[in-house]
Amino acid sequence: MDLDYWWLLLIPVVFGLGWMAARFDVKHLLSESANLPRSYFRGLNFLLNEQPDQAIDAFIEVVKLDPETTELHFALGSLFRRRGETERAIRVHQNLLNRSDLPEIEREHAMFELGQDFLKAGLLDRAEDTFKSLNSGAYASDAQRCLLTIYEIEKDWAKAIETAEILEKLSAQSFRKEIAQFHCERAQEALQKKDGELSSAELKLARAANPANVRATILAGDVEMAIGNPDGAVEQWRKVETQSPAHLPLIVERLMKAYGALGKDAEGARLLTQYLDKYPSNDLLDIAYTYIAQQIGPDAAHQLVRAQMQKAPNLAGMSRLLEAQEGSAEEPRRSELELMRGLIRQRTKNLPRYTCQSCGFRARLFYWQCPGCSGWETYAPRRVEPMASGG
Ligand SMILES: [Zn+2]
Repeated sequence: MDLDYWWLLLIPVVFGLGWMAARFDVKHLLSESANLPRSYFRGLNFLLNEQPDQAIDAFIEVVKLDPETTELHFALGSLFRRRGETERAIRVHQNLLNRSDLPEIEREHAMFELGQDFLKAGLLDRAEDTFKSLNSGAYASDAQRCLLTIYEIEKDWAKAIETAEILEKLSAQSFRKEIAQFHCERAQEALQKKDGELSSAELKLARAANPANVRATILAGDVEMAIGNPDGAVEQWRKVETQSPAHLPLIVERLMKAYGALGKDAEGARLLTQYLDKYPSNDLLDIAYTYIAQQIGPDAAHQLVRAQMQKAPNLAGMSRLLEAQEGSAEEPRRSELELMRGLIRQRTKNLPRYTCQSCGFRARLFYWQCPGCSGWETYAPRRVEPMASGG
């Protein structure tokens, strides 16, 4: 019986061993942290308290005391860059690169960081050279992505296309949308230089890269108009309806101009009314109202806006409706209508804007590339009214 419980004796022994091991661990930790300079902990503390200025001073001291700490160099470099102190960031990363004993992976890392410093400092040439030197290795794909950003800033669309194609191979991610847009940019430049032939060639490449690209269709109409072929322009712009009806408000004014050039205003007005029936929107209503009032007369425009308001009532449409009624009203009714319209205008004084779906940047004009986040095709082609403030 006694023999069966002999192992109970082991319990205090195991406890004792555990206690000793823990003590050893703590001792080891203490001795290791004793090797770390005090400034390191001071720096950490400042960082945790969101006092980056003081943190940087503390870390600089550590780096001076122990120049071998590469991780700390990287942390310092990126802290400097984030604060816009690009000169100091550049110096930190160049110091690292000057070390002969730096392992290859860390050399690439430092090179990539240095490229980002140059980019942030606006030194695009030097950033480009730095990223180009990373054409292989762990940072190759990230470096190409930064090169693409540089070429977009420089509007060097030929190099942008080349880089996007390399990126597709490196990252297995599609850049078709971007490549088509780069060709459209080239087509637009050619159009501005009145080179219709080059423009058409670029548009063909844009469509080959991304058949869904509606900008190429719109630009193809512009090319036709520029070479004095409104028939061809009408043909191109009418394709927008099947390709992406949401983009119609962007082209209907041009389309009506082309109908006008052909002496077919009535046909244009009929098409416009059809579009409005099928794809009602405030943008389209605004354009149609003005056009129909000019081409057919105020009564027809009034009728148009009344029909739209019955389908989809909203404040902007209401303002238009009152405006239409004012035209034929007599005093004092006219002044009353004006007063009502003024009140509605107060509620809608924040003009509708195009809004980037990626970063929320709001713009009066429509952009294919967002000026806020540089994303391509991030704007929905319809203007949105911000919520009116209460009161
Ligand atoms: Zn954006």
